[in-house]
Amino acid sequence: MPVQSKAEYEKLLGRLQQNASNTSRREVSRLEIPDPHVIWIGQRTIFRNFMEFPKALRREPEKLLLYLNKELASAGYIAGDRVIFLGRKEPSSFGALIDRYVKDYVICPVCGSPDTRTEKSKKLGFLLCEACGARSSIKGNYA
Ligand SMILES: [Zn+2]
Repeated sequence: MPVQSKAEYEKLLGRLQQNASNTSRREVSRLEIPDPHVIWIGQRTIFRNFMEFPKALRREPEKLLLYLNKELASAGYIAGDRVIFLGRKEPSSFGALIDRYVKDYVICPVCGSPDTRTEKSKKLGFLLCEACGARSSIKGNYA
């Protein structure tokens, strides 16, 4: 083998190995879900770190808020990084609500990857998985 093409070959091999290690890093990526910080001020419930969640879950803040408002039967609104709900909502219920949202709207039911996005088609919500390519229907209405 001529020297030059051997060098080319090794360069190619190096590139292939690099690609392979990139792939395995992506596979071990996991979803980091923050803890909700919820407090009462008077008759209001303040979800102090709301904005961390749409960012972590890669969802639009309005959609996550719509879900929380329906589940809490409230009309909370975004104020900076916080959401303010009228009335006293149980702070401990927020973690469970977020967990359910993640399970129903974020995690791929086929492979369990959180690397997904949502799509609407004829008023039906679909979850598209970037890891395995599955397209799953979403039962809820807040996709
Ligand atoms: Zn998947």
